[in-house]
Amino acid sequence: MILDFSKVIKGLQNQADFESSLDLDKSFLESIECVNASAIHVLGTIKKMGKRYELTLSYSGDLVFECHRCLKDVNVNLQSTVERILVTPLETEESEDFVEVKDGVLELMPVLEEDITLNLPLQILCNEDCAGLCPQCGKDLNKGMCECDETKIDPRLEALKNLFT
Ligand SMILES: [Zn+2]
Ligand SMILES: [Zn+2]
Repeated sequence: MILDFSKVIKGLQNQADFESSLDLDKSFLESIECVNASAIHVLGTIKKMGKRYELTLSYSGDLVFECHRCLKDVNVNLQSTVERILVTPLETEESEDFVEVKDGVLELMPVLEEDITLNLPLQILCNEDCAGLCPQCGKDLNKGMCECDETKIDPRLEALKNLFT
């Protein structure tokens, strides 16, 4: 999605508002291992701030991932507000918070993708105590024990056992 705020740059408007529903790129979803995603609702403003422009972008949507332990679908609701300073290529000062824009247009997707990536939980689990799948038979251990060799101990319990010996 491309935002044209050239009218703000020319001084014809004080700010440019936008609202839209957009789909994330398939390649991006694959890169974050997302298996399904709702449309992302975005709402924002670009305002003139002296020689620079301030972008405020709020977005929300639902992404579906597989639980890292049992592969069950886990819904992650995203809701965030991003603020960025937009600068023209003439400026020399560089900062991570600055987004360079050319010809009065802003490519919204990279800003959105970057923020989504930063906001994802490090480990996505259906439940903090998810027991995962049996590494031998693949049974979902949240639904009960399997028939496999019981001398195989959960590595987390193994660590606990070592504390007591
Ligand atoms: Zn799980
Ligand atoms: Zn098993």
